[in-house]
Amino acid sequence: MQQTKRMLTPREALDIVLAHVRRLPTERVDLMAAAGRVLAEPIVAPEDHPPFPAATMDGFAVIHDDTSPWREIIGEQFAGHLVDVVVTPGTAVRITTGAPLPPGADAVVPVEDVEVVDDHIVIRRDEVRAGENVRPVGVDIRRGELVVPAGTVLGAAEIGLLASLGISAVSVSCRPRVSVLSTGDELVDPDTPLGPGQIRDSNRFMLVAAARQAGAEVVWAGRGPDDVERLTALLRERIAESDVVISSGGVSVGERDLISAALRELGTVHIERLFMKPGKPFHFVTAGSTLLFGLPGNPVSALVGFELFVATALRAMTGQVPVEPELVTVVLEHDVVPGDRIEYQRAVVRCDAEGILRARNTGPQTSARLLSAVGANAYLIVPPRDEPYRAGERLQAILRGPVRGVPARG
Ligand code: AMP
Ligand code: MG
Repeated sequence: MQQTKRMLTPREALDIVLAHVRRLPTERVDLMAAAGRVLAEPIVAPEDHPPFPAATMDGFAVIHDDTSPWREIIGEQFAGHLVDVVVTPGTAVRITTGAPLPPGADAVVPVEDVEVVDDHIVIRRDEVRAGENVRPVGVDIRRGELVVPAGTVLGAAEIGLLASLGISAVSVSCRPRVSVLSTGDELVDPDTPLGPGQIRDSNRFMLVAAARQAGAEVVWAGRGPDDVERLTALLRERIAESDVVISSGGVSVGERDLISAALRELGTVHIERLFMKPGKPFHFVTAGSTLLFGLPGNPVSALVGFELFVATALRAMTGQVPVEPELVTVVLEHDVVPGDRIEYQRAVVRCDAEGILRARNTGPQTSARLLSAVGANAYLIVPPRDEPYRAGERLQAILRGPVRGVPARG
């Protein structure tokens, strides 16, 4: 099946890519090694948290409606050290933050509200409320509660929470194994002086970084010549060892058949061109369970193609939720002239003092100008139309980084 006649919209293309994604197997990892991994099982709290009623202040554990004028200190309860006493009317136990409330007691009076006289205390206020300064059993988390859903990328908060519930290993998705291939006879490594007509292979470094950032394991990265046979052989090797193979270059009009011919030889071509800018030449091919993405050579086109399609496929392979890129509505800070295809302009989105997201593009948007993506936290989606979009109009944007707020004055 080849869908080469019509240029597909990015939406159509993403649906085709997602329809061919297969979930990767899972593995168990120690909690210490789980950061950044995608949880493959829902985590249900195996116990209440906290597991015992605990003091939230340093003070004295008492019975709240005990009317004794003073109370004898019958013991000390420190966190982690239990004292074998029962609080009865006329008694109190010294207690530290986090220590379990001793049996009999139902409130903790903070040290500030107490006068200690020899071996007894006098409470310097009229009323003590039941449960005062006590964290009851299960107040934070109830046993059986869903605490972390499957598909969550494990971060610091999730990992701390799992540790607090006695979970020391978790089932996560295996990392996608990714190969990155740059094509082009003009390419040299960054540490090589440029000869006439040569340019540096930036895509290989950029796509390896992007793949790692997306949680993949890069199993191979290299460069291939502008030669169909050798590219085909190289790609065949990579397919055998990879879940995803990403190539860049070999797709401009003069070279059109270079990567297309290699990919056609190796698998089923689903997409060849997109109704978008940058990144019109875009190949999506499947070979067995391996996904191949033939990205354009121009660095910005390759980056946009990666972030919109490859990164989304990687999220889907690992079961990450949500799978789609994050969309927001933004207000334009300046006029924008649309093109004849859906344009993904690199932009800076910020949140103004009223809480409105405002977008400004990063200057010239040519597909070789990687500087347009540096510092850009968004892709402004500019659909084609006859007249310019005016400052103040609304458009959608895909977030690729955090949005900074502008603090209100005063
Ligand atoms: P191509 O699709 O191979 O015709 O490449 C289009 C443009 O991108 C050409 O100007 C190439 O020199 C450039 N290009 C291709 N591959 C890379 C790469 N790996 N790094 C930087 N630029 C590249
Ligand atoms: Mg080339």
